Amino acid sequence: MKWDVLVIGGGAAGLMCAIVAGRRGRRVCVIDHANKVGKKILMSGGGRCNFTNLGVTPANFLSANPHFAKSALARFTPDDFIALVERHGIAYHEKELGQLFCNDSSKQIVRMLLDECAMAGVQVKTSCAVEQVRKSDEDFVLQTAHGEMRAESLVVATGGLSIPRMGASGFGYALARQFGHEVLPTRAALVPLTLSGKHLDRYRDLAGVSLPEVEARVGGQAFRAGMLFTHRGVSGPAILQISSYWQPGDDLRVDLASTLGEGWLSERRKQHPAATLKTVLVDALPKRLAQRLCEVWFDNRPMRQYTDAELRDVECRLHDWPIVASGTEGYRTAEVTLGGVDTDGLSSRTMASRHVPGLYFVGEVVDVTGWLGGYNFQWAWASGCAAGEAA
Ligand SMILES: Cc1cc2nc3c(=O)[nH]c(=O)nc-3n(C[C@H](O)[C@H](O)[C@H](O)COP(=O)(O)OP(=O)(O)OC[C@H]3O[C@@H](n4cnc5c(N)ncnc54)[C@H](O)[C@@H]3O)c2cc1C
Repeated sequence: MKWDVLVIGGGAAGLMCAIVAGRRGRRVCVIDHANKVGKKILMSGGGRCNFTNLGVTPANFLSANPHFAKSALARFTPDDFIALVERHGIAYHEKELGQLFCNDSSKQIVRMLLDECAMAGVQVKTSCAVEQVRKSDEDFVLQTAHGEMRAESLVVATGGLSIPRMGASGFGYALARQFGHEVLPTRAALVPLTLSGKHLDRYRDLAGVSLPEVEARVGGQAFRAGMLFTHRGVSGPAILQISSYWQPGDDLRVDLASTLGEGWLSERRKQHPAATLKTVLVDALPKRLAQRLCEVWFDNRPMRQYTDAELRDVECRLHDWPIVASGTEGYRTAEVTLGGVDTDGLSSRTMASRHVPGLYFVGEVVDVTGWLGGYNFQWAWASGCAAGEAA
């Protein structure tokens, strides 16, 4: 079977690329080894798919080349995707911080993409594993579970390594290497952090305790959002965000009292001199956490017994709480994979390989990783579109 464009991977990036190429009149086929396409779209955003973010800028992405994503992001914007969603009559809302979710279900986004594929004449083959890829003089030749398939252009849209049970594989990286591309080291990102030893013993039984707003910091990067204690460590949006910037051994600090101004404890001492520190902390923190901090870190006396310096010290520690993480929960639960196909080998306009004419890499397989909040899908749509216009 001979096609103009073969797309390996029917996720967000692959489907978008196929649609755009198909609309140009290219004969396109999407191949996926999973039994249905768009599985990550279906499970995303708690089943409501956070499909984009109104505030997307290149600064919301991590890559060895921070400029690489600019061109594609500028040419397919959140407004372009919103227009598509609206054309399909899908109701959506902004949850917070520019994050757009479907009102009803992620299934609507997959349905929309498949309808667009059908309108653009794109064929979609599921349960079709690709066994081997080679380049002949003119074509890419794929040995697949459905026989040999050939195409002038090959788009690799196989995603990252996160959630292997959803079909994630390292196939895209292997293909990149086969065709002479560098693959930068990968690691799980947007992922809960784990604690061990005494650090876990101290907080393990707080599992389920959450704080609506903390500031998590590593190096020069900081995120303000919620945090959650788990049986194995810490999670919640602030931790997931900072996990993309954290590596074992890095000094991770959390401001547990980010909404409280300087001197608030001295103020409370004036108002409630007989109250204990723990009682006062319960106004600002979840009760079980306040109690634990008083057991582990602070001695719990009536407020009037604390000097100004001691209260300043308590405040400082709350604003600069060290989390000694031992690792992450890994690809099993990570939302994305950092690293991947080195952008040095790709055109930022078209996602085309600089080494092999007709070869393209799009979406998460490329070394571009977004923050939590719809950024990763926007990269998938934008990079898919960039390749779809050229492939
Ligand atoms: C639980 C979860 C929730 C998420 N929620 C959000 C969210 O709300 N908003 C957001 O922006 N991002 C979210 N993400 C991230 C987002 O899903 C990904 O960044 C995005 O799906 C990447 O798109 P992609 O097309 O590059 O890869 P994928 O969507 O992973 O698609 C890759 C496709 O390639 C197929 N494939 C893999 N290997 C092969 C092979 N060897 N042969 C054939 N096919 C193959 C896979 O089956 C899959 O269909 C979430 C991720 C997870 C895991």
